[in-house]
Amino acid sequence: MQASNRILVSGGAGFIGSHLCDLLIAAGHDVLCVDNYFTGRRRNIEHLLDKPRFEVMRHDVTFPLYVEVDDIYNLACPASPIHYQYDPVQTLKTSVHGAINMLGLAKRTRARIFQASTSEVYGDPTVHPQPEHYWGHVNPLGVRACYDEGKRAAETLFFDYHRQHKVRIKVARIFNTYGPRMHPNDGRVVSNFIVQALSGHDITLYGDGNQTRSFCYVSDLLDGFQRLMAAGEDFIGPVNLGNPRESTIRELAEMILQLTGSRSKLVFLPLPADDPRQRQPDITLAREKLGWEPKVTVEDGLKETISYFRHLLAQ
Ligand code: NAD
Ligand code: UDP
Ligand code: UDP
Repeated sequence: MQASNRILVSGGAGFIGSHLCDLLIAAGHDVLCVDNYFTGRRRNIEHLLDKPRFEVMRHDVTFPLYVEVDDIYNLACPASPIHYQYDPVQTLKTSVHGAINMLGLAKRTRARIFQASTSEVYGDPTVHPQPEHYWGHVNPLGVRACYDEGKRAAETLFFDYHRQHKVRIKVARIFNTYGPRMHPNDGRVVSNFIVQALSGHDITLYGDGNQTRSFCYVSDLLDGFQRLMAAGEDFIGPVNLGNPRESTIRELAEMILQLTGSRSKLVFLPLPADDPRQRQPDITLAREKLGWEPKVTVEDGLKETISYFRHLLAQ
């Protein structure tokens, strides 16, 4: 029988991390979920607690961690603007010190290490859609910089540990991803709009709602993670993972109103500083190297997510 891998998932109690833990446990691996519960929740991983191959550790990745592992998925970092701006210094420490500690761990154990990077490395992009070779347009002093620059520095660290210490890395740039287990108070647009629509509150559009995003369903994203990890060691990324179907935030609001049958009204609030005006992944590289593209339509993904929040709000 093939030996199972010991896999560390940092940020494993979060939205994406908990789905990743599910997938890895189902594939027969030993999973060590490491999380400080800043934005993650025990309820996301509760159903895994009685699995003999699953272990959880409350730990902040800005501190060193000595464990023995074969693979590391580094997802620890708040992802919603309101949460990463709540304590920007801690956000930057999480990205930078967290990356150094996880890379140090990978170097010592010779583990492979995956980095959850982000489309935010492109900032408010002047190239559209965004290919991986675009260097981005980031305000290094702005309120989003703790996240954007933190993730950019983390990518630099990954590539330097790779060049200098031969650490085996994989870097994915994730574009807006949504699905069940987003926190109802997460603050990101999909969860905000669904919770507002289901509870009859006003739908809060920031700015004129004409800014765009491209939304990927979580199962498609995880398929991309798996393919990137399974690809040969010469393909390390960075690679964009996201759904190229782009829509304005206003269109998203209208779709959610229609799918929920809600009569909530649209209200317009000020646009947050440095909010990117447009975003769409160019996924040519993922198609070519990983044979990957999203399969779940936005309508189907939103229906699943709405159904999750309906149950949650009824509790
Ligand atoms: P999330 O906030 O649900 O998950 C992040 C997890 O990291 C939480 O469980 C949180 O408690 C944990 N965490 C934060 N700081 C930590 C620390 N110092 N030590 C240990 N754990 C810590 O967000 P998510 O959407 O699941 O995002 C997961 C990863 O994917 C993040 O790195 C994020 O930057 C990246 N990403 C997500 C998206 C998206 O659209 N969801 C887009 C781009 C990148
Ligand atoms: N580190 C860790 N776990 C390990 C090995 C290292 O947390 O198993 C941390 C350690 O605290 C160090 C960081 O990772 O500060 C970077 O490790 P590296 O070996 O690159 O640097 P050094 O130990 O030489 O500073
Ligand atoms: N947004 C909005 N209303 C909300 C939350 C977000 O109009 O209640 C907008 C936000 O200004 C941004 C887009 O939706 O233009 C996506 O925001 P989110 O925080 O989900 O992610 P981002 O891609 O900005 O990190």
